[in-house]
Amino acid sequence: MDQVNQVLFIIHQEAPWLLWCLVVVIGGVFGSFLTCMLYRVPLGISLSNPPSYCPSCHEKLKSIDLLPVLSYLIFKGKCHYCKVPVSPRYMFIELCTIFICAIAYIITGPQLVLVFTLTWVICWLFIVGLWVESRMLAKKVLLFSIMISPLIYLLWR
Ligand SMILES: [Zn+2]
Repeated sequence: MDQVNQVLFIIHQEAPWLLWCLVVVIGGVFGSFLTCMLYRVPLGISLSNPPSYCPSCHEKLKSIDLLPVLSYLIFKGKCHYCKVPVSPRYMFIELCTIFICAIAYIITGPQLVLVFTLTWVICWLFIVGLWVESRMLAKKVLLFSIMISPLIYLLWR
C-alpha cells in the first residue's frame, strides 16, 4: 500500500498533469458508461448487447462517436450519421462525472484510496441518477458501495 502511495506521490511531484489526465479520462469514460447504464437499465436492455447505437437512425456508433464530451462538441450536438440533435444530457452527465471525480482527487490527493473513492463516487452517481430518473433502487451497486466504504476509511491518510 505504502509503495503504491509513494509511486503515486512521485508521479504527482514529477508530472502532476499525468494524474489529472487520468482522473479526467476516468471521469469521462465512466460518465459515458453512466449515461449508457441510466438509459438501458430501466428498459431492461443489456449493457453490452447491442453495442451503442443512435436511437434515431439505429446506426452503430464507432469510437469517434463515443468520445466523452468531445464527440458532442466535434459533431456539434448532432448524430454523426443522421444529424438528429443529441440530448445535451449525455454531455452534462459526462461533465458532472469528470467534475465530481476531480473534486474527489483534490480531496484525497495522489493516494491508493483515490481508486476506491472514485469507485464509490461513480457507484453513488449511478444510484442517485437511477433513482432520480426512474425511481429504481440499484440494490447491488448500493451493497457494493457500502462494502467498499470501510476500505476508504482504512486507507485514508
Ligand atoms: Zn443517427
